[in-house]
Amino acid sequence: MVIVDKSGVHRLEVRCCECPNAMSPDIQMFRHRFFPASFNRPKTVMFPHLVPDRYRELMRVAQQWRQLKTMKWHGFGHRSDNPSTGELALFCPACPQPGINVLLSEDESLDEDPSWKYTRSFVMDGNFKAEHLHPIKPFDEVWLSDGLGFMVGNDRYKMHLAEAADTVEKSSCNNHRAVNQANAARHKLESTGIGGVACARHGCFVPHSMVDFQKGERQATSTIPHSRVNHGGSLADK
Ligand SMILES: [Zn+2]
Ligand SMILES: [Zn+2]
Repeated sequence: MVIVDKSGVHRLEVRCCECPNAMSPDIQMFRHRFFPASFNRPKTVMFPHLVPDRYRELMRVAQQWRQLKTMKWHGFGHRSDNPSTGELALFCPACPQPGINVLLSEDESLDEDPSWKYTRSFVMDGNFKAEHLHPIKPFDEVWLSDGLGFMVGNDRYKMHLAEAADTVEKSSCNNHRAVNQANAARHKLESTGIGGVACARHGCFVPHSMVDFQKGERQATSTIPHSRVNHGGSLADK
């Protein structure tokens, strides 16, 4: 049995009582102040009450570790240059991308004839319930991969929002969430949802195309992600 204690991870022989009237193994573990990781046939026990609380430190290390792994996975492990916009995310493996899964001959381009050959289609959609509160200490927030993955870079998005005209759109539909929520107050939310662009065929998100919605889904918000997007998805009642 694997025993995770504050002194380390140990492998020790543990036998449960198997008398006819014995309690189930997990109850026996609890009786001995072990916390089993599973209940039918426990193979690992821990002592969470004995371990000092280093949750914040653990989370910080985990985030930095993930960042390092992401850099490595995207080929920046031994490079001195920094990744640029969207380079820490992968797009759809099936959609045609010149230089990645398509070799274009000199007279070919993605947009030109025959257009059926390499046409990509996209959908835009969002989740209007993914609310995000303002951080408690904004000055403490460190962006490890701002704009390098699927989300649009913070500064760039703010610039876009500042420039984009914010017209209040009245929906005649009785309960069109996207529009009605757009006109609702924001309360204390940093964002009221999240949305972006995905390839229509395989549902893969497009790197550097996701944004936080500031209120419902403003048209201004929706116009940023992609310039060549065919709006195929439904923005309605989510
Ligand atoms: Zn026994
Ligand atoms: Zn695709």
